[in-house]
Amino acid sequence: MRKHIVAGNWKMNNDLADTAGLITNLKKERNLGDAEVIIAPTFVNLYKAFESLSDSNIKVAAQNMHQEESGAFTGEISAKMLKGIGINTVILGHSERRAYFHETDELLAKKVNSALKNELRIIFCFGEELQDRKDEKHEDVVATQLENALFHLDKDAWSNIILAYEPVWAIGTGETASPEQAQEMHQFIRNTIASTYGQEVADGVSILYGGSVKPTNAKEIFNKKDVDGGLIGGAALNATDFFEIVNAFQQ
Ligand code: PEP
Repeated sequence: MRKHIVAGNWKMNNDLADTAGLITNLKKERNLGDAEVIIAPTFVNLYKAFESLSDSNIKVAAQNMHQEESGAFTGEISAKMLKGIGINTVILGHSERRAYFHETDELLAKKVNSALKNELRIIFCFGEELQDRKDEKHEDVVATQLENALFHLDKDAWSNIILAYEPVWAIGTGETASPEQAQEMHQFIRNTIASTYGQEVADGVSILYGGSVKPTNAKEIFNKKDVDGGLIGGAALNATDFFEIVNAFQQ
């Protein structure tokens, strides 16, 4: 059975005190189901979060990393450094990284290689823009993103890949893909993986949905056959909302 995962991307929110406060509240909540719970605080608070959650089942991920292991890259952080503080998971390819920091599929392929070399698990984000959907090109766009950034990997590497399908038009906008739209795309993504890597690999990959998931819509989205969890932005900043989403799996 595929793993259910709910990951909270805190983005550039929460200073040290806010991080401590939110973690205290998260630790009061209970995961009533089988979903793996991950939070991704900003780099500066990553180690503090990791330490504070060492006695809990909540895991900590980084929001990004540089593709090189070390060197003259002022302001950057490598996979090796993340691994060195105990982090095992990294988010790569978020649409905000693609849009504001010009991350291309080719660059992301390098980041993917560096993360895997350092035994990090990857939450790989991708998804079409509104115009792509209007032009009915969303499937092509998504297939190309996957091919460019991930399809050079060998079969075994896929055990460390979690996919997060995030239609850009649904991120932080309050507009969500309908459960049917999400299922349709998740199925397409699984079929695309199957056609390159075979059904066994495709069936083993957790595909998360991201884009304005809230306590009010999580259940109907997570109920869909090929949706294995969510990458949550805004609603991850409130412990009660976040765990309502986590627990949407088993209601
Ligand atoms: C995200 O940033 O990955 C995201 C899905 O954000 P939101 O839930 O706020 O749309």
